[in-house]
Amino acid sequence: MLSYDEAIKLVLDNTSPLPAIEKPLDEAGGLVLAEPIVARWDMPPTDNSAMDGFAFAFNSWAPDKPLLVVGRSYAGHPLKESVTTGSAVRIMTGAPLPDGCDTVVPLEDVEENDDAIRLQKGCKPLQHVRFAAEEFQQGDLLLQAGTCLHAGEIGLLAAAGFARVPVHPAPRVAILSTGDELVELGQQPGPGQIVNSNLHLLSARLREAGAEVIPLGIALDDEADLDQRLRAGLQADLLLTSGGVSVGDKDQVQDAFGRHGFEKIFWKVAIKPGKPVLFGKIGSQPVFGLPGNPASTAATCELFTIPALRRLAGHKDPLPPRLKVHLTEPVKGGAKRQSFLWGSLKSETGGYQFTPSNRQGSGQNRSLQGACALLPVAAGSPDLETGEEVEVFLMRLPQGPGVY
Ligand code: AMP
Ligand code: MG
Repeated sequence: MLSYDEAIKLVLDNTSPLPAIEKPLDEAGGLVLAEPIVARWDMPPTDNSAMDGFAFAFNSWAPDKPLLVVGRSYAGHPLKESVTTGSAVRIMTGAPLPDGCDTVVPLEDVEENDDAIRLQKGCKPLQHVRFAAEEFQQGDLLLQAGTCLHAGEIGLLAAAGFARVPVHPAPRVAILSTGDELVELGQQPGPGQIVNSNLHLLSARLREAGAEVIPLGIALDDEADLDQRLRAGLQADLLLTSGGVSVGDKDQVQDAFGRHGFEKIFWKVAIKPGKPVLFGKIGSQPVFGLPGNPASTAATCELFTIPALRRLAGHKDPLPPRLKVHLTEPVKGGAKRQSFLWGSLKSETGGYQFTPSNRQGSGQNRSLQGACALLPVAAGSPDLETGEEVEVFLMRLPQGPGVY
């Protein structure tokens, strides 16, 4: 049976970034740039003042010598005339520095008398001046392809005049839930029925990770119903099912995929939970059959589907981020398969502490309550002790001061 490392490699080798599209800048947050961005102009466009104050030529100033104020330069209303030796200009932050000036003193360091100013402190040439193109110059590489756009990058692109940007689109992920026992959220489960909770778990997580989710409803464990609902997902960028991929009498998802031209890449990985995970392609579309038990669905989504989603979205490193943490409890080793334990994180001075969930049962949604991370424990690993440093796959940082 494949190891996790072998299986995730196959997933990433078989998934490529979606073709670039152009998006209005304000709709590009969280998306990944598909092309490098090169500055079309200089920023700032001219030398300008970094303070509210007075501008003049440094070499026209001497201690105790008053300067005559001959004009004003405001942001958006530059002074057009040049300033002669011995004169100064009242200037506000962001206003272009008039010709003839190279130095700014702040208002609070100046004594004003009629039309003359005297400096109360010394000054240095070029002080409080922001120079043309000091932030970036026309032709500079501003952002590389593969950069994920967050507020800082959006602000930079706006300053540089990019109203539209080339990005990889948010992948559309179609989710089909399978099982005769399932009812939709909002319906009262009858005898033997349960709510289709996996759809909501998967949707929430995939949206957090940048997907646009297309729910395909619940397919009965029935050939015709499975086929019809699967067909509706074939246009998505990634197709995902939950349930019906194990070896039970009613597990028909793999056969249903097969009727739609599925090329199987792997079925079953030596991990716990999530062993029966199925992966392949229909044409170029990556397709996952995730096992139905909620904690298995969630683990396989985290371990395989989110990296595939991030690859489609163009992220340079699609694998889960890793974080070194300390265990608050011992963890039993010696398992036959590599196991992944859900757990919570707490921020402590000197790092984070990881507490494994006390319900690791794959059938339970409660294993995931408060879970921020997955701890991989290698097959045959020795027992791990309280306080030991381990590396977890990070889903998110825990809530706490400064984290929201
Ligand atoms: P299966 O893989 O179809 O045999 O399902 C394994 C277990 O997961 C069974 O107990 C199912 O009832 C449960 N299950 C399957 N699909 C879902 C779902 N969408 N929501 C909640 N539980 C599910
Ligand atoms: Mg089932």
